[in-house]
Amino acid sequence: MRIDSSRCSGCGTCHGFCTMGAISFEAAARPDRRLASVVDEESCVDCGVCLRAGGCPEDALFEPPAPWPRSIRGTFSNPLAEHKETRVPGRGTEEMKTNDLTGRYRPGFVGVGVEMGRPNTGAYLRDVERVTVGLAGLGVSLEPRNPLTSLIGPGGRVLPEARDQKVLSCIVEFVIQRERLPEALSCLARAAAELDTVFSLDLVELADPAAGDTAAWLRALGELPYPNGKTNVGLGRRPEQASREET
Ligand code: SF4
Ligand code: SF4
Repeated sequence: MRIDSSRCSGCGTCHGFCTMGAISFEAAARPDRRLASVVDEESCVDCGVCLRAGGCPEDALFEPPAPWPRSIRGTFSNPLAEHKETRVPGRGTEEMKTNDLTGRYRPGFVGVGVEMGRPNTGAYLRDVERVTVGLAGLGVSLEPRNPLTSLIGPGGRVLPEARDQKVLSCIVEFVIQRERLPEALSCLARAAAELDTVFSLDLVELADPAAGDTAAWLRALGELPYPNGKTNVGLGRRPEQASREET
């Protein structure tokens, strides 16, 4: 995001909308002694919130073209942007919420989402790499339909040109056998100690009474789970179900 200083009146309205605290008054006053606002391009994640808020009375905010790899910022941070790789808007896959199309979460497996950069911190992909390299060391495969996975190479390494890009947040997404979850949690705890950002951890599991009390199990592992009820109604059918219905 940029601000056209010739239009900006320095009213400061946009500052309050910035998710990253990236807008400030420029250090030196202009010859006419009016302040203007500037965007720190390194801190800005191109989320577009300041522009969409529509609060600028001078129409001074604008989005310059963002060629690769700068484009990574907007595609992960602006909910209206579409990822070229997956054509899925947003940061993770819808299936984390619905499990409707792929049946990805089977009994005995746990879905894991590591939501990096939330809340209000942002994450450099070099920090995301600390997590993905650790998981690769465990032999974990990341969800191929998650837009982040297209930026991860062998050994969990982030593409070199993407490492210094900052996003509002992104989700490292994978499925692991239930009995291997403690291994993955230990790996994430080690990475957390080295990260210059925050993350929250989502665990997704089919309701299965035979598996026992998952919350109690996690507490025994030293975790503090916050069970969260959320209903997402999917509109899709699993491919095998669809083909059965059509024959
Ligand atoms: S695009 Fe987002 S991060 Fe950048 S200045 Fe606007 S609100 Fe702040
Ligand atoms: S809202 Fe517009 S005019 Fe006011 S400081 Fe921001 S860019 Fe400048």
